[in-house]
Amino acid sequence: MTAVAGAVAGAAYVVAALLFILSLAGLSKHETSRRGVTYGIVGMAIALAATVWVVAAGALDGPTAATDEATASTDGSATLGLVLLVGAVLIGAAIGLWRARVVEMTGMPELIALLHSFVGLAAVLVGWNGALYDSGLTGTLADIHHAEVFIGVFIGGVTFTGSIVAYLKLSARISSKPLMLPGKNALNVGALVAFIVLTVWYVISPELWLLVLVTALALALGWHLVASIGGGDMPVVVSMLNSYSGWAAAAAGFLLNNDLLIVTGALVGSSGAYLSYIMCKAMNRSFLSVIAGGFGIEAPRGAGEEQGEHREIDAEAAADLLAGASSVIITPGYGMAVAQAQHGVADLVQRLRGRGVNVRFGIHPVAGRLPGHMNVLLAEAKVPYDIVLEMDEINDDFARTDVVLVIGANDTVNPAAAEDPGSPIAGMPVLRVWEAANVIVFKRSMASGYAGVPNPLFWRDNTQMMFGDAKEKVEEILGQFSRV
Ligand code: NDP
Repeated sequence: MTAVAGAVAGAAYVVAALLFILSLAGLSKHETSRRGVTYGIVGMAIALAATVWVVAAGALDGPTAATDEATASTDGSATLGLVLLVGAVLIGAAIGLWRARVVEMTGMPELIALLHSFVGLAAVLVGWNGALYDSGLTGTLADIHHAEVFIGVFIGGVTFTGSIVAYLKLSARISSKPLMLPGKNALNVGALVAFIVLTVWYVISPELWLLVLVTALALALGWHLVASIGGGDMPVVVSMLNSYSGWAAAAAGFLLNNDLLIVTGALVGSSGAYLSYIMCKAMNRSFLSVIAGGFGIEAPRGAGEEQGEHREIDAEAAADLLAGASSVIITPGYGMAVAQAQHGVADLVQRLRGRGVNVRFGIHPVAGRLPGHMNVLLAEAKVPYDIVLEMDEINDDFARTDVVLVIGANDTVNPAAAEDPGSPIAGMPVLRVWEAANVIVFKRSMASGYAGVPNPLFWRDNTQMMFGDAKEKVEEILGQFSRV
């Protein structure tokens, strides 16, 4: 029975791994993303069912028939394992369902960071379990096992505290300013060198105090790596932690001898690393320095300083301006998500297109608070995909555009990034909205964006500010359309 269970589970794991790969492929395009999510859900359901099945089969067969996955049955604890597993799945599913229902879209990044921390913690616990539990291995196999334990605990520890700091920063429970310890790069490099030395030591002589030491080192390094990063660089950190959590899961997979965990961990690890690379390119940051955690930006200078007179516009004048335009580009940002203005924006687009205006969206790769944030909101509001363009596809068109509506975006449209080499976000590619004939900025005040950097766009001659909640203001403009 258990041999059959093992074979069935093995086959189910292969199917689940394939579904995860198909899921990633599907998620890479708007048109196929729904299918991608479905593949992911089915794959995860199969993986969970197969795992429960293996443990259940071990429990039913009693202590003598154990598979690799149900080794606990050898000491008669398979039934306890099954009870714990089912209990954990039920509690986890209940908490997961509740969080997914109540979380605001704007709260997703911090929730994701928190979930990454669980993966890290799980890898640390699996590593410790692997060290305390007598594997019965000898020779080279024992050496490999000790290296797996040590590496798993290290990656898990870094992921755990790094993700906790990211969670605290993203949810504004601690300041997002970078921690600037003297010689911070030397500290990070020193910790990595110490880890390598300790790993070799542990493989030669696996003593528990070395494991305690590497756990403390990893927890401190994870904390420091993310604490020293601030402002606009946080998106890359979230994506990097996603990658670390994948490697932590893969390390746990080696220890648990679970192929699916290894494959899934590697998929998450490599796709997260690739996403980080794409984001680094989009933000003009060096990928290597991100991995080393040494790219924290300087604290912003003079945030919020007034740099001249700004002009305001009301809904009536904005409606007139839009009615006379032949081309309009909308650049949404985090404020559109806060205001939940996407449905009003979609109505506005429909009205304008009905009047023959060429309307398109320009999406910055790090607009909002998570990769693809704006695309998700616009898809939810049923905005046609073909008018939603990436930054590189639309940046040259601003100069030929009559009106740009900047809806709740700030850092991603900041000209200082392109024009002021002393700016903390200098070099970050931005949407060149200021090249358009008219720019209307929807926001509630003159406050700076996530990076805490002043935005000279607000004082440009062709810019007008529309103060207030973005949803209300868009609806006011829509109301004016019945007049013009
Ligand atoms: P910003 O965070 O720079 O600015 C958002 C603006 O929205 C604020 O200036 C705010 O101004 C305005 N706003 C907030 N609420 C409302 C509302 N209800 N109605 C109208 N306006 C509102 O947004 P961007 O999208 O331009 O930039 C994203 C930033 O977040 C970048 O710095 C990026 O690096 C960072 N980031 C991105 C992540 C990602 O993966 N995409 C993850 C983590 C961080 P006011 O308060 O005056 O209304």
